[in-house]
Amino acid sequence: MKNLARELIVTPGSKIKLAHFDPASTFGFKKESSAGHLEKNLERLAVLQYLLYAEGRRALLVVLQGIDAGGKDGTIRHVMSGLNPQGVDVTPFKVPEGAEKRHDYLWRVHNAVPEHGKIGIFNRSHYEDVLVVRVHGLQPKSVWSKRFDQINDFERMLSENGVTIVKFLLYIGKEEQAARFRERIADRTKNWKFSPADIKEREYWDDYIVAYEDMLRRCSTKHAPWYVIPANHKWFRNLAVSQIVRETLEGMNLKFPKPGADLSGIQFE
Ligand code: AMP
Ligand code: MG
Repeated sequence: MKNLARELIVTPGSKIKLAHFDPASTFGFKKESSAGHLEKNLERLAVLQYLLYAEGRRALLVVLQGIDAGGKDGTIRHVMSGLNPQGVDVTPFKVPEGAEKRHDYLWRVHNAVPEHGKIGIFNRSHYEDVLVVRVHGLQPKSVWSKRFDQINDFERMLSENGVTIVKFLLYIGKEEQAARFRERIADRTKNWKFSPADIKEREYWDDYIVAYEDMLRRCSTKHAPWYVIPANHKWFRNLAVSQIVRETLEGMNLKFPKPGADLSGIQFE
């Protein structure tokens, strides 16, 4: 079986060309025969989360980025569904408002970093500040271009203080986005997900690709790697993300804490 983590990781410093990535690829996995594999990953994730919570000394931060309709919400729904809600914090990042706007861009992000024992999921993240901000010129280049290093420093600081970080770019093709938009328009129960602004944003597709490529090249690091997930097929996206999150948690070598007192002599009537 292909090692998905190894296939999909962005090697630090490597120059990724997203055009060379097939967003429909499934690395030889088949939908039907992979269902059990996904199930097993989800079961194992629940156990690992329990250990993380019990140990209570470290946290996992999962960052999700992707173009509109890329499947960020669906990934959270499907991959995190088996987790104990008490141990998970999901934070969506929208256009900064109020106090967020009056602080540096990492302020709201730092505040949302999971506490020890928890899994934090970012639905969009500080990477918007080198993506949408760059694509729409919300800040000059002199400002956003310094942020790659700032983000690496920030993430390294977190990783040195007990936060393991894993980052996913959900990558769909332009045609697949069109198909998902059409479905959102046609299906009354999906209308709410669609905004006419999404069509406008689609015109910036190529600019986003350039911004994603720089983000991947500059900010995939040993302590906080990026993975590019071919996401046209939702089942494969779920399989790949669950597999990599699972392996990341396995790699933390989580242990139940030693009891705070000697429990061996305790007896009850
Ligand atoms: P959605 O994820 O569909 O709810 O949309 C959230 C919107 O907020 C997206 O259009 C993002 O690009 C935008 N957004 C998130 N973070 C920022 C940011 N730091 N600056 C500007 N726009 C942002
Ligand atoms: Mg949207």
